[in-house]
Amino acid sequence: MGDTAVIVGGGIGGLAAAIGLHRTGWKVTVVERTTVLDDAGAAISLAANGLRALDGLGVGEAVRAASRGQYGGGTRTPGGTWLARMDGRALEAAVGAPIMGVPRSELHRLLREALPAEALLTAEAGPVRATGTGRVQVELGEEVLEADVVVAADGIGSGVRGRLFPAHPGPVYSGSTVLRAITDGPVDGCGDFELTWGRGAEFGHIGLRDGRAEWHAVLTVPEGTRFPDPPAELRRRFHGWHAPVPALLDATRPEAVLHHDVRELRTPLPSYAMGRVALLGDAAHAMTPNLGQGACQALEDAVVLAAALADGPTVEAALTRYDAERRPRSQAVARAARQAGRMGHQLSHPLAVAARNTAMRLAPSGATLRMLLRHHDWEPPKLGRTPGAF
Ligand SMILES: Cc1cc2nc3c(=O)[nH]c(=O)nc-3n(C[C@H](O)[C@H](O)[C@H](O)COP(=O)(O)OP(=O)(O)OC[C@H]3O[C@@H](n4cnc5c(N)ncnc54)[C@H](O)[C@@H]3O)c2cc1C
Repeated sequence: MGDTAVIVGGGIGGLAAAIGLHRTGWKVTVVERTTVLDDAGAAISLAANGLRALDGLGVGEAVRAASRGQYGGGTRTPGGTWLARMDGRALEAAVGAPIMGVPRSELHRLLREALPAEALLTAEAGPVRATGTGRVQVELGEEVLEADVVVAADGIGSGVRGRLFPAHPGPVYSGSTVLRAITDGPVDGCGDFELTWGRGAEFGHIGLRDGRAEWHAVLTVPEGTRFPDPPAELRRRFHGWHAPVPALLDATRPEAVLHHDVRELRTPLPSYAMGRVALLGDAAHAMTPNLGQGACQALEDAVVLAAALADGPTVEAALTRYDAERRPRSQAVARAARQAGRMGHQLSHPLAVAARNTAMRLAPSGATLRMLLRHHDWEPPKLGRTPGAF
């Protein structure tokens, strides 16, 4: 069936796919254009499905050891009233893990360390094309890499997707922009994961293992909105919100604040595979971050892809099965994430906000847990380990 794979993009999805393929005996090359990741100064929450995918890849234990479980917390109003509580112990009892928070730089380091150094190449990947001999080529400037399979893990702006699906409209602005940072040190009274929904705005945080926290502020503003002094703007907008919101902002160095517009692939892709090229992660299904599932879905993709390719019998047949397994689930999660944003921070009419808050307060106990389990309860396929490959 072949034994060489080129992965375009060394983000969470690309590195995870490379680990899965390496473990199952493929000779992998990850082509990543940058040495400093765009959002290295942020953290990420991983749910049980993402952690189980990491377990399947053999790196779950290391990632758990670098993470902090989010056992308490939930959703609040700006005045501090709880709308829903999250029971991390119940989540752990049901699916083996609470939501866990980890700095992105740590996660990347652990994924990179699970690969041989020679598998990681810093270069800009150009066009990908099929050869006449049934293999695939990736242009790297003057050079060409040839492989039996190419994995496009090149993120939301995927050049490979653009070439394979020229009629697809590509990513669109979700209506929200997000500013986020990791605090300089621990913040008094700042516990586990919390989300606070105001009118057209959200503030949230997750606790990290070393006592620091990552916070994010989501604003419903026109695309491209930028602020001359982001911390001052955030203090103005979130003034009067319950503790620890102001303290989190005060505990952050201004230069640590990252600002990105949230975009998504609102038009679903018709396929995650074409010939010997597979799309994965944000390249295939970039979603809004409202459920904290984008990277978790990329991790699921990675382990399913590696298992499909290990089962063969041909690359094309394996990629067809990968697409059939991954597209319905990841696109359903993307729809649910978009809906969660619309019902959460994007809601701004006072009556709509009041009706949502009342419905949440009256919801039967266990409703939040059941909602989370819909996405978190997922089992990876078993990856056969090729002797000596890992
Ligand atoms: C504000 C925010 C918060 C989020 N929070 C969470 C969360 O808590 N939990 C969660 O699960 N998900 C979360 N997500 C989603 C998650 O960040 C993404 O889904 C995930 O990072 C996608 O990984 P990826 O590897 O597919 O893409 P990326 O991380 O975008 O990686 C793509 C890589 O490809 C490289 N690349 C692109 N083109 C080329 C080229 N031509 N040549 C070489 N390299 C190339 C890029 O440099 C990049 O490193 C969040 C997203 C946002 C915006």
